[in-house]
Amino acid sequence: MSELLRVVAPAGSCIVAFAALMVTLRAWRRSRLTARLEVVRGLHAELVTDAAARDRHTLGSLHWQNRDINPDGAERGDVMCAYFAMLWRFEQLHAGRRVLLEEVNSKRDVALKMLDEQVYTHVAEYVCTFSTIKEKLTASNRDDTVFDGTYVKTFDQLRESLADSFEDPEKRARLGAHTNNTEKCNCKCHEVSAKPPLPPQRPGGAPVRTGA
Ligand SMILES: [Zn+2]
Ligand SMILES: [Zn+2]
Repeated sequence: MSELLRVVAPAGSCIVAFAALMVTLRAWRRSRLTARLEVVRGLHAELVTDAAARDRHTLGSLHWQNRDINPDGAERGDVMCAYFAMLWRFEQLHAGRRVLLEEVNSKRDVALKMLDEQVYTHVAEYVCTFSTIKEKLTASNRDDTVFDGTYVKTFDQLRESLADSFEDPEKRARLGAHTNNTEKCNCKCHEVSAKPPLPPQRPGGAPVRTGA
């Protein structure tokens, strides 16, 4: 009997230790996933704040109406601010998403899948928005260059990385549009006839009076 105990006891201790390790590992995985989901929530929240909604409205109105920017008054400055604010938001999203990817050696876990699904439409929409707004900003004042090189490069990295996460060819095509403007862009804005700028507005929003 004592001989049997000598053999069985260590094996029993090993099983208990292994079970404890499994419980600890499971708890660690659960808490890491909770932390990652919290990061995902924060990254998505940055795209839908009130300030982001205002900037999206400023850029979206021009984009979807295919309207030119009035170089006089406050509009061009407002559009420039909204344009860069949105670029910075996507820069923040790219940095956070890259950390999440590195943490799991680029294998998409539940948190990354959730993030990618949540931000896909935002990123895909801005592939065309950034391109068309940049054209309109440039056309409205060719003496005032839009220095957005680094931020645009970061946005391009984001959309390329996001495209790698999807197998759907339609999603990949949307994320790849306007890369060098030889690709077809399916955005409906390209079917809308161009409109002239609105009358110039003062910074407070009141129209500028012209004539006597
Ligand atoms: Zn487009
Ligand atoms: Zn468009």
